[in-house]
Amino acid sequence: MTSAVDSILHLFELHGDSEYGGEEVTQLEHALQAATLAEAAGSSPSLITAALLHDIGHLMHSLPHDSPDSGIDDLHETSGHRFLQQYLPDSVTEPVRLHVAAKRYLCAVDPGYAAQLSPPSVTSLQLQGGPMSADEIRDFEDNHWSQDAVRLRKWDDQAKIAGLAVPTLDHFSHALQQVVSKESS
Ligand code: FE
Repeated sequence: MTSAVDSILHLFELHGDSEYGGEEVTQLEHALQAATLAEAAGSSPSLITAALLHDIGHLMHSLPHDSPDSGIDDLHETSGHRFLQQYLPDSVTEPVRLHVAAKRYLCAVDPGYAAQLSPPSVTSLQLQGGPMSADEIRDFEDNHWSQDAVRLRKWDDQAKIAGLAVPTLDHFSHALQQVVSKESS
């Protein structure tokens, strides 16, 4: 049980200092800010954990942080989902898997949403398929986890503030531990 938490958090020790895709925060700062917003919204331990780990797929490869500028999508939502599935329930892994789809969804249904995306996020949107089609919107809304994915997506978009004071990884490891314990009990 502890080893699952260690395996997950170890990725932040190895790569947490790396740049978050052209934004002014590191991967670890981004993860902690997203988890802080989830916690402030009174979310479940699962959704706080999903916010913390949503970009873990970015920590699992050695592509440069600006690979979208070269037309390369690292498909981090898929690799992150696959990795986390070993340890965590759907309540964590599905919002992680769907957080890019949620961006494509919001761009299609909320005219104000696309306008507030950061420039790197606009660049990656094109590689990720652009705004959803009507059929894709329907499929997304039918998914049980789509609303959690949308919530996560909005925290993700806000979690890019340079120098913001947030709790440490140790603080959020309690939510992670809780979800892992429940899954393995
Ligand atoms: Fe993110």
